[in-house]
Amino acid sequence: MDQKRRVCVIGAGTAGLCALKNSLEAGLDAVAYERGSQIGGTWIFSEEMPKDDYDEVHSSMYEGLRTNLPKEVMGYPDYSYPEDIPDSFITSQQVLDFLRSYADHFKLRPHIKLQHEVIRVRPRLDDWEVYVWDHSTNTCDPVYFDFVYVCNGHYTEPDLPDIPGMELFGGKTMHSHLYRKADKFTDEKVLIIGAGPSGMDITNHVRVAAKHVFLSHHLPTTPNTAFMGNVTQKPDVQRFTKEGAVFTDGSSESFDHVMFCTGYKYTFPCLSTDVGIQVIDNFVQPLWKHCININHPTMAFVGLPFNVIPTHIFDMQVRFTLKFFTGQREFPPREEMLAELELEIGERWGCGVHNRKKAHQMGERQFVYYNELARIAGIENIKPVIHKLMKDCGKKYIFELDTYRSNRYTIVDDENFLKNGRAGA
Ligand code: FAD
Repeated sequence: MDQKRRVCVIGAGTAGLCALKNSLEAGLDAVAYERGSQIGGTWIFSEEMPKDDYDEVHSSMYEGLRTNLPKEVMGYPDYSYPEDIPDSFITSQQVLDFLRSYADHFKLRPHIKLQHEVIRVRPRLDDWEVYVWDHSTNTCDPVYFDFVYVCNGHYTEPDLPDIPGMELFGGKTMHSHLYRKADKFTDEKVLIIGAGPSGMDITNHVRVAAKHVFLSHHLPTTPNTAFMGNVTQKPDVQRFTKEGAVFTDGSSESFDHVMFCTGYKYTFPCLSTDVGIQVIDNFVQPLWKHCININHPTMAFVGLPFNVIPTHIFDMQVRFTLKFFTGQREFPPREEMLAELELEIGERWGCGVHNRKKAHQMGERQFVYYNELARIAGIENIKPVIHKLMKDCGKKYIFELDTYRSNRYTIVDDENFLKNGRAGA
């Protein structure tokens, strides 16, 4: 009898659990290594801070976070949130409970090794050599696999901008990665830089404790409705001074604390250089369809695209790659994959997005991407209702920040949803 082909999943967050479940269902012999002591990744809230320069805290979760997407689109296609949770925009603990129940429902736990950190992945002639450090025994052994799923998450390594005068500023600075509670800012004047989902939400939390918050951003439209009282919106910082900053409109402010909500970097510290993957300005390459390592197509990255419906894109990428890993589809020749990558990037640059940092940004493109994955691998696409619901939620975290989380959605069928009891658009 043929030996089962072996799959290594790095990480047991939302993406890793999905890769593990689908690999097992596809008849592969899969194991997920998780360096933490529990599953759930991002959704684990802990007040833990780094102990020294080399210590890494994984999760960027903070107290009081409620999701910026409704739970109706945050479930997996084959496993939804329980119907007895009335709210659509839920707490991090409810997401964590959901991931635990997913792991239990699909009997994943026997296949997850907690406190096992993958520290080195190296391609051999016919397989992968994976060095795994068992934190509980402090031993490190090589294990051999046919396929590798890289699901290590990408909200841990801060991406800090290079702003003139940073070294002059005499107050405190931090990145949103280590933001945990608003009370740290009691009676302070705070500058928050960046108006992505985290910057907007954290501003809304911090303003409750702080004396004043300045939110610096370059959104094309100023979100007037979202903030009241003690928040002043500012353009980009031109330069820092000892007490504060000068902004690009010539105004200046003084403050005690700066928080950078400026995003994260993709990093893959456990991949050896002969894995053939480079990250240049946050563009991970060369990848086919944003997930397959073109230099070694038996390795897949799950969840790199952003501005997406995370759980659904993870599930589609995993089902897509499994069609190839199980031999039901054949990869195109390397040159073809590279040519496709070049074409896509050329199109992106042609649309004015000549910024490598945005190479994995999706937004509206994600629906074209889903169609493509579904067509190429012959897998089920995301349901139209998920697409419609996502359209209804778009950008609400900017323009309806103070109200959107009270909306309640109900999925009626594959096409239709209700919003606050009424038919959705
Ligand atoms: P993670 O959840 O980060 O999991 C990665 C796992 O890999 C971790 O458990 C880590 O310990 C493990 N790991 C890393 N390296 C190794 C290694 N070498 N060996 C072994 N294990 C390793 N998404 C939404 O859908 N809705 C939201 O409302 C939302 N809000 C968010 C709010 C914040 C503050 C952040 C940071 C993200 C939010 N997201 C949201 C995005 C969210 O991160 C994704 O939806 C999803 O949880 C990412 O899952 P992941 O598995 O890719 O990564």
